Amino acid sequence: MKISKTLIIGIDALEYDLVKEWDLKNLMQEEYGRTQLPIYPGEEPNTRIVWPCFITGKMPHEMGYVTQKVFKPPLQFFINLFFPKIKFILSPRRDNPKDMIEKNANKRFRLAMEIYALLSRWHLVRKPVRDDIKAATIFETISPSIHLHIPVYDENLPDYSSKVIEAIENKAYRSIFEMKCMHEFKQRTREVFDWWNKNEWKLFMQYFWLLDGIQHVFYNNPKKIAKFYIMFDEFIGKLREKIDDDTLLLIVSDHGQHKGIHTTHGFYSVNKPLGLRNPKLIDFRWTIEEILKNERK
Ligand SMILES: [Zn+2]
Repeated sequence: MKISKTLIIGIDALEYDLVKEWDLKNLMQEEYGRTQLPIYPGEEPNTRIVWPCFITGKMPHEMGYVTQKVFKPPLQFFINLFFPKIKFILSPRRDNPKDMIEKNANKRFRLAMEIYALLSRWHLVRKPVRDDIKAATIFETISPSIHLHIPVYDENLPDYSSKVIEAIENKAYRSIFEMKCMHEFKQRTREVFDWWNKNEWKLFMQYFWLLDGIQHVFYNNPKKIAKFYIMFDEFIGKLREKIDDDTLLLIVSDHGQHKGIHTTHGFYSVNKPLGLRNPKLIDFRWTIEEILKNERK
C-alpha cells in the first residue's frame, strides 16, 4: 500500500451511532469505528481542547492546556498540575440540553461559568489561541500541508455557544442559524475542491463546525439532523470519486452527540484498511506521520 498524500475531513460532533443507524455508506469507508477521546473520566469533550490534541497527538496537559479557557501564568501551571482532581469544578459535564439555556439547571455548570466570568473580569482567563498549543503539530512536521479553519490553531472560534443558545431560545433566529450552517457547509466543501485542484500538498485538513451547532439547536428534531448527515455523506461520496489510489482519506470527529449532549466517543473512517481497533484519537497524528514518511507498510 503506497500512500503519498493524506486528506483529513474533521467534522465536529459526527456521531458514530447515527452514521450506523442511517447507514451512511460513504461516511463508513473501508474501515471505520469509534475512537477514544483525549478527555479525563467524567469530563465532557470540548472542541477547543480535543482538536488541538488531535493535531499534536498529545493529551491536554502535554498539548498545552486542559480547560476550554486558558489561565494567566503561573495559574495555568497549577491548573494543569491539579486538573484531574479539580475538573468537576472547571469542566463539568452537561447532562441535559437545557443546561445550555436554563442557567440554573446544572449547578456545577453554572458554578464553572461564574468562576470563568469572575476570572475573566480580572483578565486572568481568556480563550485559547495558537500560541497556547505548546506541542508541535502535524502541520509543522509534514510539508507541504494545508489546514483550514482548525479550531484554535487557525481560528479563534467566534462565540458560537451564544449563537446556539439564541437559536434554541428564539424560534425566529432558528432558520437564520440553519442558513448560516448551510453557508458554512457550501463554503468549506467548495474550498476542499478548490484546493484539491490547484495546489500541491502532502497533508490537507479541512474542518467543519456546523454539525455540532445543528445537533444542539435541533436536538429534538432527528429529521433535520438527518438532512445534514446525508449532506455530509453525499459530499464524501463526491470526494471519493476524485481521490487517487495513493491518497488516504480520514474522516474524523472530536465527539458525537445524543439529543443535544456531547457523547464521549469519536468517529473515524479511512479508505484504506489500517487495522485499527477502537483507536485513540491522539494516535492518528503518529500513524499519519509514519505512513507519509513511508515507515509503515
Ligand atoms: Zn457542542
